[in-house]
Amino acid sequence: MTYLRDALTDRVGEFIQLRRDIHRHPELAFEEHRTSDLVAAKLESWGYAVHRGLGGTGVVGTLKRGTSARRLGLRADMDALPIQEATGAEWTSVKPGLMHACGHDGHTAMLLAAAKTIAQDQTWDGTLNLIFQPAEEGGGGAVRMMADGLFEQHPCDAVFAMHNMPGTPVGHFVFRDGAAMASSDYVTLRIHGTGGHGAMPHRAADPLVAAASIVMALQTVVSRNVDPLHTAVVTVGALHAGQANNVIPALATLELSVRSLDPEVRRLLEQRIKALVAAQAESFGVRAEIDWRPGYCVLVNSVAETDFARQVALDLVGAERVTLHGPALTGSEDFAFMLEKIPGSYLLIGNGDGDSAGACMVHNPGYDFNDDNIATGAAYWVALAEKFFAH
Ligand SMILES: [Zn+2]
Ligand SMILES: [Zn+2]
Repeated sequence: MTYLRDALTDRVGEFIQLRRDIHRHPELAFEEHRTSDLVAAKLESWGYAVHRGLGGTGVVGTLKRGTSARRLGLRADMDALPIQEATGAEWTSVKPGLMHACGHDGHTAMLLAAAKTIAQDQTWDGTLNLIFQPAEEGGGGAVRMMADGLFEQHPCDAVFAMHNMPGTPVGHFVFRDGAAMASSDYVTLRIHGTGGHGAMPHRAADPLVAAASIVMALQTVVSRNVDPLHTAVVTVGALHAGQANNVIPALATLELSVRSLDPEVRRLLEQRIKALVAAQAESFGVRAEIDWRPGYCVLVNSVAETDFARQVALDLVGAERVTLHGPALTGSEDFAFMLEKIPGSYLLIGNGDGDSAGACMVHNPGYDFNDDNIATGAAYWVALAEKFFAH
């Protein structure tokens, strides 16, 4: 199937330009108006039936051929991040404080490049749904599209998505079946005490000391409560209290990120954190208010679809460029919600390793999507669709 990659290499020039154009004009979650206009116009020009408005700025392009009942969903994300770009690239963001620092510009370009090639092929048989979603970066754009009827209006038998991965050789594919990315919950703790004079602590109830103790107690959740063979993260990323050396504040606030790779562990973390915080607060004579906000769920790749996706990569780039069973990641991803409803697989494509520019980690101001992946990633999508509809 290397013919496919070579063929695409010859024609991806326009999609590299398109990627850089999207990069120049980044848009935050649910504000991807220019990007979704561009995606919709391209899809329409190639003959796709385009459905807009799902999840606000979401776009679905559907193409149907022949009589087969098979239905495939391929998903890309479109949103950027509130980061000031420092790549120095010619196609640097024109918007101060906003950039495509996660490569969603590249994901969109790869899927569009594939969309054009697939539309030119008259021989396949089935229904192809290309899903361009808003707000992957914490906004839950996938959930919003689903709430608006994504899979009722565009039913899929399987769904697939691809994300670039710095630190992995460019064009190298990584697969994993089962739990592949973590659930992510956000927690705000407000510790209410009684403020007072710093010289007379016995007349106050100090929420700052209680908060400090809570931070330390939380370290025991992963080390003492979670099975050592399971994965969990409890990070206190913010602790705010007080303003002056001689004033005991009335309030301390903590912000937590809580992650796991298993729904059981996720439940245990919630139960233990709530119990510890309540008991700690009581012991210090202060009151804890816990705001628990569930974020993305654990991303679980189904076995059969991951096997299928692996085989496509093996045929396309050969075994030396495929990691069959990669490690799970403690990052999270809202494609997890699509995978709760529809079997499928989320795979990674290397963005570059070693000293190469592509090795710079996502969400870093120096990060840029590696354009060498556009031909390979698009060829992968084309090959996957060909194989799926040939079943
Ligand atoms: Zn990201
Ligand atoms: Zn991303």
